[in-house]
Amino acid sequence: MPLSVVWFKRDLRTTDHAPLMNAITQCVQNGDELLLVYLFEPEMLAHPTTSSRHLCFQWQAIQGLNQRLVSQGLSLKIHPLQASAADVFKWLHSQHQLQFLFSHEETGLRYTYERDLNVKNWCARNDVVWNETPQLGVIRGLQNRKRWSYRWHANMRKPPIKVDFNPWLKAGLLPCIPEWPSPWKMTAPPKPTHEHDVLGKGPFQMGGEEQAQQLLTSFIKDGRIENYQKHISKPEESRQSCSRLSPYLAWGQLSMRQVFQALEACESKTMAHRAFGSRLRWHCHFIQKFESEHRIETENMNRGFDDMTVVTNGDNLLRWMNGDTGIPFIDACMRCVRETGYLNFRMRAMLVSFLTHHMGHSWKDGVNHLARCFLDFEPGIHFCQFQMQAGVTGINTLRIYNPVKQGLDHDPDGLFIRKWVPSLQEVPLAFVHEPWRMPPLELAMQGGDTRSVAPMIDIKATARQARSRLWTFKNHPAVRAEAQRILNVHVDTRYQRRRRP
Ligand SMILES: Cc1cc2nc3c(=O)[nH]c(=O)nc-3n(C[C@H](O)[C@H](O)[C@H](O)COP(=O)(O)OP(=O)(O)OC[C@H]3O[C@@H](n4cnc5c(N)ncnc54)[C@H](O)[C@@H]3O)c2cc1C
Repeated sequence: MPLSVVWFKRDLRTTDHAPLMNAITQCVQNGDELLLVYLFEPEMLAHPTTSSRHLCFQWQAIQGLNQRLVSQGLSLKIHPLQASAADVFKWLHSQHQLQFLFSHEETGLRYTYERDLNVKNWCARNDVVWNETPQLGVIRGLQNRKRWSYRWHANMRKPPIKVDFNPWLKAGLLPCIPEWPSPWKMTAPPKPTHEHDVLGKGPFQMGGEEQAQQLLTSFIKDGRIENYQKHISKPEESRQSCSRLSPYLAWGQLSMRQVFQALEACESKTMAHRAFGSRLRWHCHFIQKFESEHRIETENMNRGFDDMTVVTNGDNLLRWMNGDTGIPFIDACMRCVRETGYLNFRMRAMLVSFLTHHMGHSWKDGVNHLARCFLDFEPGIHFCQFQMQAGVTGINTLRIYNPVKQGLDHDPDGLFIRKWVPSLQEVPLAFVHEPWRMPPLELAMQGGDTRSVAPMIDIKATARQARSRLWTFKNHPAVRAEAQRILNVHVDTRYQRRRRP
């Protein structure tokens, strides 16, 4: 019997899922067998952005979905396999007459792009029809942003796809249950080929479509959104007052349309609702940038910055990665994200600013480390945001965050610092943000000395150097020419006048 396969990627959900619905329709029409797969591919496991927390999050979602399918009386399940797409589809073709492949389009890392090209060519050579559906309002092959926002809104307002298994059940069709080659079978979440640095063990948010729906309800209907803007920049309070939907959106366990429509359904709209709505659009805006120019995974978005000198200091880099710079607010933020997988936007920006501006490193030195730390790692947002904060786009306002000021503004009582840097538990509030300012007597009472509280670098001097370095470059003709190109490709013409380089 011919076979239709749904290939789940960053879309482990059964609601608003066009490929799943299309596959069911196809099977009912043709009497095909149906198979659902998720692939933990060798390239994914070996990739420097991958960490165990990502793999567990996907694994949890698969387990949750399979339980739900069973509870609905369906004999279907998602088969997690540790194998490459090429091997799996070739094998299915030879053993089970694979004819139709259904998936969402993916805007991912270079290896997923190249893999998809190979799968596409293989399908064409073997008469397998690959039916790919766009998602997120991201448009493939887009040349510029004319009317992008309008098209995005129109897309978000379309009714979500209702996945209905009833026609499939009524037709008495069967799921395909292959006897997989043994190395592909999985009973536990896989480990990355090599963990690059030892990150914390959680607690992390738990993966799953049900968890995502509950979080959405608690944010929009049960009122967590009320303090959204008030707390968005606070590292501790944001954990409760921001939506925390990012891992579910990044891994597709919730569709953007579902979140957008839940927000639209609110009767009264406050500033918080509007601010949140804008960020939903930003999510897709950044992924669209990556879709149009995915070379920025490894190259400066603005090539004019290619000649900028950068520092390479392995010891300092390690201290930044481990949250051991001696600057309390930086260390607290890094330790927090390593342990919990989450940090609010401003503090993420500050970590990048510190790495690239104060330490003078290239963004490339830290981008994979934070990708591994963030449970919500989404390539399209991550690489674009990293470069924006590093100041190498030439079109964004340059921000050099002073970590002491950020700490005083957003953790005035030092509670967040004390939570994550226990060695500062007993330090008086007056010095908790700058322990190096402690008088010798106070220091001695804390059992420390000048060396033990010395910051890794001088924040003010390094900020001055960074400012002059970046401003000199920003006015360079090559940077300005590239900035204009970036505006033409990635920014809606309506906003270009305001953002002229
Ligand atoms: C250096 C850096 C790297 C980042 N990497 C990622 C990443 O890998 N994945 C990721 O989802 N976000 C990333 N962000 C953006 C942002 O920090 C997170 O989306 C946000 O903190 C997630 O928390 P939340 O779900 O509570 O967001 P909320 O504030 O509740 O926002 C709702 C949703 O909007 C989107 N969103 C919010 N802020 C932004 C933003 N500034 N840009 C784009 N989309 C946004 C996210 O999908 C988020 O879930 C990064 C930011 C920086 C500065």
